[in-house]
Amino acid sequence: MPTHTPHTLLPATLYPLEVLLLDDDDFLLEVTAGQLKQLGLVHVTQVNNGFAALHRLRDMRAQARQIDVMICDIDMPEMDGVEYIRHLVSEQYGGSIIVLTGADDRMRTAIRTLLVAHGLTPLAILKKPTTIGTLRAALMSLATDYEQPRRGRAAGQAVHRISVDDLKAGLMNGCLELHYQPKVSRHPQARTSAEALLRWRDPVHGLLPPVSVISVAEASGTIDLLTRSVFRAAAQQLGEWTRAGHEVSLSVNLSMDDLTQLDLPEVLTDIAVAAGTHPTQFTLEITESRFMQNVVACLDVVTRLRLKGFGLSIDDFGTGYASLEKLRQLPFTELKVDRMFVRNAHEDPIAHAILQSSVQLAHSLGMQVVAEGAETAMDWQCVVEAGCDTIQGYVIARPMSAAAFIEWKSNWDPAKYDLQQILEFN
Ligand code: C2E
Ligand code: MG
Ligand code: MG
Repeated sequence: MPTHTPHTLLPATLYPLEVLLLDDDDFLLEVTAGQLKQLGLVHVTQVNNGFAALHRLRDMRAQARQIDVMICDIDMPEMDGVEYIRHLVSEQYGGSIIVLTGADDRMRTAIRTLLVAHGLTPLAILKKPTTIGTLRAALMSLATDYEQPRRGRAAGQAVHRISVDDLKAGLMNGCLELHYQPKVSRHPQARTSAEALLRWRDPVHGLLPPVSVISVAEASGTIDLLTRSVFRAAAQQLGEWTRAGHEVSLSVNLSMDDLTQLDLPEVLTDIAVAAGTHPTQFTLEITESRFMQNVVACLDVVTRLRLKGFGLSIDDFGTGYASLEKLRQLPFTELKVDRMFVRNAHEDPIAHAILQSSVQLAHSLGMQVVAEGAETAMDWQCVVEAGCDTIQGYVIARPMSAAAFIEWKSNWDPAKYDLQQILEFN
């Protein structure tokens, strides 16, 4: 069952986050710090200039502690925010960032692009003055179903990655788990679907996110092994559900490297059939940015996957290099608009414009549109109004175990595609 958190509070797992708040306006500092405390955060430090912020960062590091979330202004007299961000990069800051700024929409987009280009993680670029609800929504994305990557690791250290030997042994020893996140269709007759997301049950580090495993598998050339294991686990689960009378279809993520395996369509079809399922019950999600760089090499495999009956989805659309021409050439059935354009689309006109034009483009090419990363009731309303066919995100449900997903499904009424039901679930 969903946990009931009052809307003014964050999930308790986030209370210990170390937050550093930087603004040259002392009044705004006080107001924002008060809002963060109301949300339940207990470690909030305020500084009114970039030098003091960097000093605090180094101080914490000397004590083997870290800042988890940096909330900073951009327009400041001594060291401005852009300069400060440059220092954060050279300090190898590994936490998250929320920018709070009075700058206009185009400037906010430029700041986001700058942060991403530096390899930093912007949770949100918010317009001043902000509300407690907006801050909460930005921080909510740090609540995951696996171990918080940043908690408990020394500052500057990367997210834990397993070794290749652990990967191979773990695949034999049941370390691979799948969690399922509902994808809710606004067409009541559509079958309930879920995205299968990889989790790794590490004996020492607990439940790890996909990033701890996938880059290792890709770099070591073992991704085909991992993908087959993931797909087999998903197919077996779907087979079980189908035999128990649950009508479900599943999305499974593929790595770009999988698409260089010419026998992939046959391998996946054989696995699906052996598990008592059919390719038409699956959608394969491929991240757009990497796909588009290797379009010719992948066309063969992708076309034959489609011929076998698999649905094909462009994941994280809008973050890569898709041209209209490439979209027209490839047999995709679904387009997933990246959460960057979903989150806060109601208050960021540029994100909103990209969301809307992606929906129009996909529909004109006969593709279904999924909005991923809808976190709040406002995100929900915005993507419904934009015409998205399917919605996925924390506002509906977080990724969960197979058993929890079936319980969620039994409580969800597909005919009631409305906000009221969403709010009842949260
Ligand atoms: P993705 O395919 O775009 O999956 C969606 C990610 O967004 C998931 O993160 C999910 O937990 C997260 N998410 C869902 N709703 C929300 C929301 O409302 N707000 C926020 N902030 N996040 C949300 P996760 O599970 O950490 O997966 C990250 C990425 O790892 C996936 O992104 C996918 O690219 C990759 N991945 C996951 N499982 C597999 C797999 O089996 N094979 C491969 N090759 N890649 C995988
Ligand atoms: Mg995906
Ligand atoms: Mg995605």
